[in-house]
Amino acid sequence: MINIHTHQVSQHEGFAIQSLYQNFESMSTLSYYSIGIHPRFIHSDTYQQEFEKIKLLSQKENVLAIGECGLDRLSSTDFKLQEKIFIDHINLANQLAKPIIIHCVKAYRETLQLLKSYQINVPVIFHGYNNNEETAQQIIQEKYMLSFGKSLFNTRMETVFSKMPIDKIFLENDSGEKDIKEVYDQASKIKNISLEQLSLQMKKNCTRVFNKTFYE
Ligand SMILES: [Zn+2]
Repeated sequence: MINIHTHQVSQHEGFAIQSLYQNFESMSTLSYYSIGIHPRFIHSDTYQQEFEKIKLLSQKENVLAIGECGLDRLSSTDFKLQEKIFIDHINLANQLAKPIIIHCVKAYRETLQLLKSYQINVPVIFHGYNNNEETAQQIIQEKYMLSFGKSLFNTRMETVFSKMPIDKIFLENDSGEKDIKEVYDQASKIKNISLEQLSLQMKKNCTRVFNKTFYE
């Protein structure tokens, strides 16, 4: 079971991309990571040093993606500064040719606009998707991916998820309210396919997006 985005360190059954926005020193060579400045945890006095660290560490082979990064209207950080930092991450992802993992809250229009203006040319994954169908359609029309987690347990999102093409989605457990197994169970129920089929498809998606084989 591939877990595309998690902040849990302990549970690593199967393949997981652990997302770090601090404590980059804790990285081990045995895990896979995505690293970036989370728009909710921007320290305006130190983010430049943080980003220098990220630039260096993200070259490591086991850092598979840049992020989570993006825009968050509920963050206390000035929106202009969020945009500036997000643009830095877009440029870095392009430079390194590594996928970018997006955190987006109430700022889809601006996020999509910046991705376009700064010519993102690597795979884009909107993680923890929890919005309406129209926006979801807009995202996949751009050939971006959507990752779903705990939101699958609310009825509105069940409907959105059921309509998404299976080759456009990932599954995750983010901060760990749900176990990744529970997320897969729920997703297979909504999609009405077996867990085996679902897992196989997630591996295919992963292989395509990360340009890496995930068949152990
Ligand atoms: Zn997260």
